[in-house]
Amino acid sequence: MSGDAILTINAGSSSIKFSAHVAGRAPHELGRGQVERLGPAASLTVHAEGASAERAEIGPADHAQALRAILEHLGPLLHGRRVAGVGHRVVHGGPDHAAPVRLDDAAIVELARLEPLAPLHQPYNLSGVRAARAAFPDALQLACFDTAFHRGHAWEHDTFALPSSYHARGIRRYGFHGLSYQFIAGDLARRFPDLAAGRVIVAHLGNGASMCALRGGRSLSSTMGFTALDGLAMGTRSGQIDPGVLLYLMQNDGMDADALSRLLYRESGLKGLSGISHDMRRLLASDAPEAAQAISYYVTRIRHEIGALTADLGGLDGLVFTAGVGQNSDVIRAMACDGMGWLGLSLDARANAAGATEIGAGRVRVLVLPTDEEAVIAQAVSDALG
Ligand code: ADP
Repeated sequence: MSGDAILTINAGSSSIKFSAHVAGRAPHELGRGQVERLGPAASLTVHAEGASAERAEIGPADHAQALRAILEHLGPLLHGRRVAGVGHRVVHGGPDHAAPVRLDDAAIVELARLEPLAPLHQPYNLSGVRAARAAFPDALQLACFDTAFHRGHAWEHDTFALPSSYHARGIRRYGFHGLSYQFIAGDLARRFPDLAAGRVIVAHLGNGASMCALRGGRSLSSTMGFTALDGLAMGTRSGQIDPGVLLYLMQNDGMDADALSRLLYRESGLKGLSGISHDMRRLLASDAPEAAQAISYYVTRIRHEIGALTADLGGLDGLVFTAGVGQNSDVIRAMACDGMGWLGLSLDARANAAGATEIGAGRVRVLVLPTDEEAVIAQAVSDALG
């Protein structure tokens, strides 16, 4: 396998992100890219190592067509290497999968049963799998799950207070963003081993957002639950909500499951609160009071969850910000830590504004670390290839 290539595929509803690595003990990245705006007018960007990014308009494209377009543009990344394995980000692995799984027909059928639990992601993840199997019939295909990292949670962090038969049926707190947390846990262990051995909260703040309590590098609890809806407010998802609201909307507004699903997944969060956008950059740039209010709710929930996860951990040694908002917005980081001095959590304003890696000024160390889910997937495929 030495010298062969590994592809990673992260297929979402409107985009496919991909990367290429050289297979090996520590897979070396050759480059990455994405197809955006799947549908009538898709475009492809490829960024090979050491070269500038190239962009191509590929016109109408579904997942299969987009993958074919990716394939045609892989030349500058692969330099003739054979693709020996393809690793897929699959959001939901259900209760049993604490590790990656080889994708055969039976595994795909099993994972398709979980589609209702992650309707924004799982169907598209599996479209990517089907397209990749057709494109690379001889390559190993591996599913890497966002839920797997959290499968070791104690029962108290894995269950809801429903009759216990519901837990047995798989109605549990799964937790998500596990590939990102696994990367951060590994990065901490390599670069900040003292901190990695302690009590750390990781805030993954992207379009989807969640937080995870790590003790000794393992997930102890997370803000996300049965689906990727719970916890923090997100771009278009509500985050935590009293289930009584849903009962009320069903009984009084006649909303059915589809209508509630649309409301909670696509029309809520920053977009719903602001009425302006799901995109944090646009809200930060806006003068509208609704934008400020949406941001205020967003950071209030982060502070609330820092308190809750700190209680789970029995104290706090470090806080890590990652993903689109966490890595890039000093303003949101400052707001999220504002008033948290009681916990020993405060920021060095200058280091924060400068985008430094270490930005804490109190007892709790605060870090900004870029996440890399693709690296975790490539490593898993490389390990599976042996
Ligand atoms: P995804 O969950 O789709 O992978 P990302 O991790 O790329 O999302 O995060 C996307 C979010 O990051 C968007 O809300 C975007 O506005 C936000 N973002 C990116 N750059 C910045 C920035 N400089 N300041 C504030 N928000 C940013």
